[in-house]
Amino acid sequence: MLKNDQLDQWDREAFFHPSTHLAQHARGESPNRVVKTGSGVFIEDRDGTRLLDAFAGLYCVNVGYGRTEIAEAIADQARELAYYHAYVGHGTEASITLAHMILERAPAGMSKVYFGLGGSDANETNVKLIWYYNNILGRPEKKKIISRWRGYHGSGLVTGSLTGLELFHKKFDLPLAQVIHTEAPYYFRRPDAEMSEEAFSAHCAAELEALIEREGSDTIAAFIGEPILGTGGIVPPPAGYWEAIQKVLDKHDILLVADEVVTGFGRLGTMFGSDHYGIRPDLITIAKGLTSAYAPLSGSIVGEKMWKVLEQGTDENGPIGHGWTYSAHPIGAAAGVANLKLIDELNLVNNAGDVGAYLNKSMSEALADHPNVGEVRGDGMLCAVELVKDKGSRTFFDAADKIGPQVVGKMLEQDKVISRAMPQGDILGFAPPLCLSREEADTVVSATDRAVRTILG
Ligand code: PLP
Repeated sequence: MLKNDQLDQWDREAFFHPSTHLAQHARGESPNRVVKTGSGVFIEDRDGTRLLDAFAGLYCVNVGYGRTEIAEAIADQARELAYYHAYVGHGTEASITLAHMILERAPAGMSKVYFGLGGSDANETNVKLIWYYNNILGRPEKKKIISRWRGYHGSGLVTGSLTGLELFHKKFDLPLAQVIHTEAPYYFRRPDAEMSEEAFSAHCAAELEALIEREGSDTIAAFIGEPILGTGGIVPPPAGYWEAIQKVLDKHDILLVADEVVTGFGRLGTMFGSDHYGIRPDLITIAKGLTSAYAPLSGSIVGEKMWKVLEQGTDENGPIGHGWTYSAHPIGAAAGVANLKLIDELNLVNNAGDVGAYLNKSMSEALADHPNVGEVRGDGMLCAVELVKDKGSRTFFDAADKIGPQVVGKMLEQDKVISRAMPQGDILGFAPPLCLSREEADTVVSATDRAVRTILG
C-alpha cells in the first residue's frame, strides 16, 4: 500500500481537484485528506481519523456510508452486465425498474425519466428539452431561462450560468446570454427589515414579473429553482413564496423546473421538496439522493404536458438528438434501485423529518442568542447558521476575514465534525445523512457551539 507521503506528493503533482485553490494546493499550503472508508454518518481517513460527516459528502450520501446492500447490488450488476447503452429502446431490468420506482414516488403529473450522470448534466438536458419544446410549439423566440441569484444548478456552461453565485461566473465569461437572474428568496437579507415574510414573497414575485415584462414574456421559456436554496446559503422559502411565483409563471406561460438534486428522495422529511412546498413543476432534476452517491446517476423527470410535445416532436422530426453514452448506466441504476428500497426499509424519510427538526431546534437553542449568530434556519435534514458582525443592523463580516471557514475548520479540529462553509457569506451548512440519530445530532450541535464560541467569543 502507498504511504501517505507518496500519496501526498502525487496528489499535489497530478490531481486537479474541483472547487479548490489550485496554486495553494499544488504548493502544499492547504491541507488535503485521503479518505479511506466510512460507516453510517462517519468517514475515516488513511491516518485513522474518524470524522462525523454532517454534510453527507456534498449532501448526497443520504443512506449513510458503508451500506452493503447497495455495494452488493452494484457488484451483482457488474458481474451480470456492467454496461449496455440505452439508445434506440435498449434498457436493463435495473434501469426500467428504477424509472418505474421514481415515478411511483414523484409528485403528480410526471410522465417519464431521462437518466444522466450528475446534477449538472441533468439540468443541461432540461434546458435542451425546454428549447426543443418551444421549437416544436412554433415559438422559437421563447428561449430564455430565469434562475435566482444564489441558486445552484451545476457548473457546466448553461448550468454554471443558471447558478447564481459569483465564484461560478467570474473569469469564465458566464452567465451566457440566454440565462437571466432574479431576486433570491432570502428573507434574512430582505431589503427592508420591516417587511413580513408574505410581503417579501410578494416583492420577489413582483421583481420576477417586472423582469419578465422588461424582457418580453414571449422570450422567456422557463424558471428554475431549488425548492429550498441549497449552496446559496440553505435558505427555506419565505411564507407564500412558491404560490406567488407560480401565479406569475402561469400567467406568462412559463415552464417551471424544480431542481430537486438536494431535496429529492427525503431530505426535507418528504419524498420530494415539490410536495413539501406545494410546487407543481413541469420538469424535476434529480441526482445525489437517487443513489446516495454510491454510483453516479441523475435524472430529468418530465411532466405530462412536456412529454406530449416531445412525442409530437419525434413524430415530426425523427428520434430525439440527445443522449449520453452512460445514460441509464446499469451500475448506477442498480445502485438506485437498492438505494430507494433501503430508504423505505430504514424509514429514512421520516427520520429526516424527525431528527432534522430536532437538529434545527437544538441548534437554535444553543446558538440563536449568540450576538454573532444572525439566524439559525433550516428544514428537514438541512440546517444553516449565518454569522454576522452585528445582528441588529444585519451587518456582515468582511469576506476576506473568512469567519465561516475559520469556524468550520475549528469544528473539524476540535470535535472531528465536518460542516460546510457555504461559498457566499459566513454560513455554516449542515446536511447530514438521513440516518443521523439524535445523539449524533447532539454531537453536531455541541461541536458547532464550541467552534463558534472559540472563534467569536
Ligand atoms: N442542482 C443542485 C440543486 C445542486 O445542489 C447541485 C450540486 O450540488 C447540482 C444541481 C449539480 O450537481 P452535480 O454536482 O452532480 O453536477
